[in-house]
Amino acid sequence: MLKLPGLIDPHVHFREPGATRKEDWDTGTSAALAGGFTVVLAMPNTKPPIFDAQTLDIALNAAKLKARCDYAQYLGAGPDNAEIVASLADKAAALKMYLDMTFGELRLDDMTLWMPHFEKYPKEYPIVVHAESRSMAAAILFAAIYNRPVHIAHISLKEEILLIKAAKEKGIKVTCEVCPHHLFLTQDLSGLRSGRKEVRPRLATQKDVDALWENLNIIDCFATDHAPHTLEEKDSENPPPGFPGLETALPLFLTAVSESRLTIPDIIEKMYTNPKKIFHLPEQLETSIEVDEDAKYKITAAEQFTRCGWTPFEGWKVKGRVSRVVLRGREAYRDGKILVEAGYGRNIRDAL
Ligand SMILES: [Zn+2]
Repeated sequence: MLKLPGLIDPHVHFREPGATRKEDWDTGTSAALAGGFTVVLAMPNTKPPIFDAQTLDIALNAAKLKARCDYAQYLGAGPDNAEIVASLADKAAALKMYLDMTFGELRLDDMTLWMPHFEKYPKEYPIVVHAESRSMAAAILFAAIYNRPVHIAHISLKEEILLIKAAKEKGIKVTCEVCPHHLFLTQDLSGLRSGRKEVRPRLATQKDVDALWENLNIIDCFATDHAPHTLEEKDSENPPPGFPGLETALPLFLTAVSESRLTIPDIIEKMYTNPKKIFHLPEQLETSIEVDEDAKYKITAAEQFTRCGWTPFEGWKVKGRVSRVVLRGREAYRDGKILVEAGYGRNIRDAL
């Protein structure tokens, strides 16, 4: 058995409030524990979105009742809430800005709406951006102009990793994360029904995937972007983008270790040390996970805790299984069973 620290996932969507048929704080944090994660940072694009004191309370009250692993909740940047979210920063994971997406209350139509957030959000926390391709370049320019940390979510393209490398060489305060699906899948994968390939950023080309693997040292974190939608939705006329990922990430990475494409220190750095540092997360005492590095099995959605009922990695042969999770002194997961009650999870921003 290999012992690792409790893993941190800085990017999950738990769909509560608003779409608990897909996932909620209970099933989402159960999936996290089964995947070896003891801290998750939950994104704010729920219904309603989490973007002021009132909506933050809605999310945190649900989490307090239901979460089984530790967590923090992101705030979302809107067109006129820069002061409000800045004043709530100590209670949140960080600030999320959607620079490409155009929907609802988190819609930021032009760069004048980015400026107050970059000015006001406390610099001890990163601003996390969904910013693809040239929008990502704009976000890096903002990091330089405002001299503050910016964390780029789910990078997927060769042009992105190369630009982040260049920005880091210039000393710009930029960090980034990559998702398992952008490291293990390409856009021309066959065998998946079309709706089940839909994810944002889209799956990229082999050239992009190769560039990510060639620049592993530039990647600060592995994040799942766990974004569950039901199978019915994925196979419908208008499939929403997003993959579940909490329960498949570590097995995929351990398999890459067994194939000498990755090392255990890489996993610890990108799934524990770096996210802990970037998001200023507190130490979790008496917390660790155990993995059986030699366990060989097939990934199957039927064994997962996520409510969404599917995985893009169905049937993949992997080597490496989470066998036990200890969270703050209690056995929280063992051999396929969640052993802590709903509500055991703590808001890590309360613990400070
Ligand atoms: Zn996301």
